[in-house]
Amino acid sequence: MTAQAGIREVDVLISGASLASAAAAKRLVDAGYETVALERHALPRHKTCSGILSPRGHKFLIENFGPLPGEILHEPTSCQGVTFHFRGMVQMPMDFDHGPTPHLNRMNSDYWAVKRSKVEVHERTRLVGLEDKDTHVDVLARRDGEDVRYRARLVIGADGPNSQVVRCLYPGYRQSIPWFTVRQHLHEIIECPLDPRYFHFWFHPELGYYTWSHERNGRQIVGVGHEAGDDLDQRHRMTLEYLEEHYGIKLKPTDEREAVINNFGLSLVNRYVFGKGNVIVTGQASGFLNMIAEGMSCALHSGAVAGEAAVEALVRNADLQSVYRSMISSEVRRCSDQWNPLKIIFARPHEADFRGALSELPGRQKRKVILEIMRFLYPWGKYNWGRQILWQGLLRALRGGYSPSRWL
Ligand SMILES: Cc1cc2nc3c(=O)[nH]c(=O)nc-3n(C[C@H](O)[C@H](O)[C@H](O)COP(=O)(O)OP(=O)(O)OC[C@H]3O[C@@H](n4cnc5c(N)ncnc54)[C@H](O)[C@@H]3O)c2cc1C
Repeated sequence: MTAQAGIREVDVLISGASLASAAAAKRLVDAGYETVALERHALPRHKTCSGILSPRGHKFLIENFGPLPGEILHEPTSCQGVTFHFRGMVQMPMDFDHGPTPHLNRMNSDYWAVKRSKVEVHERTRLVGLEDKDTHVDVLARRDGEDVRYRARLVIGADGPNSQVVRCLYPGYRQSIPWFTVRQHLHEIIECPLDPRYFHFWFHPELGYYTWSHERNGRQIVGVGHEAGDDLDQRHRMTLEYLEEHYGIKLKPTDEREAVINNFGLSLVNRYVFGKGNVIVTGQASGFLNMIAEGMSCALHSGAVAGEAAVEALVRNADLQSVYRSMISSEVRRCSDQWNPLKIIFARPHEADFRGALSELPGRQKRKVILEIMRFLYPWGKYNWGRQILWQGLLRALRGGYSPSRWL
């Protein structure tokens, strides 16, 4: 690489400054590589997320970044587990393995993790384009309306569900997958009998694909999710009515709401996007999302793998794609196992005991839960994921892993 005026040269450039990015950066900075993370927002930035960290994510944060300071938590500061709700008022509380986990304030927790990684962050700097030149990658970013140029030996896309890195690498990709919108509404509480120690999730197809509630800093979050373009106002209204009628939950009108778009589904059908050439993709940008949209632990772990793969490629002058794709297969197994019916029936892929909780229900309720889950899944039929999930599950049983041939 020859230096050019006005172009910042680095070993590795990361797009995004969130959890996947912090984990990747930690590996690179620790190994002595000059690494810059671009973040489109000023830090600390807001992030729409329930913030319930899984036990595995909790362990990762402590091991990599140290004990969690109080200011990175919301009230209640911990979450004991998840309660699944079904029509007919059947409820299944499930505690997380090894006790309660932290309730993260994503604005502060992500900033804390990024700072602890010691990566150099360029804030308010949005990656807009990249060109892989074989020996290096030229990156175009924009800050305060001005172009900013970088030249990196390698690039890591850790820029979340609507990744610009993925768009640059695969121009038609955005149109090839279904998109979903989730919206959370914050309400002051008049009366709420839901147990505040749990994250509550409803298997109720008429309310939407993703309906949840939990307490945060004295307010109640009511969230709804469906296909992008759906009328979420209507779903939110229906959910509030349903919660009041069946649970006696009374809330004041919404005083804040936020919506985000999501690339849900890729981990279910083993369709991850890991990049090409000198550019790899990680975290939710690559499709990692665990059961009930728990994405922080797999963002952290996949991010760390991306960082390690980049270090390995730089140290050994090895092909980045081969190194990353071989190393990431363990995280793919972990994540896709969570959606694999064979694993759910015959193993225990989650960090809360679904089968144990189900077996404790009386016989009639058990049958109702299974029936309600099938009813809940029925509308998803149009995405043709069912057969793919089953086929991938069978291959997983036969070969011990998920086929890399389905990855982009
Ligand atoms: C409503 C909701 C609730 C959720 N609840 C939970 C939960 O309770 N527990 C859980 O584990 N997960 C939850 N998730 C999922 C979780 O938030 C994500 O999976 C996780 O944050 C993914 O991390 P990431 O680092 O891959 O990407 P992100 O956290 O999305 O970070 C991407 C970063 O890149 C930046 N960026 C984007 N584009 C560019 C660009 N072009 N240039 C520069 N920077 C850019 C963004 O600003 C952002 O800072 C929830 C998600 C939603 C939507």
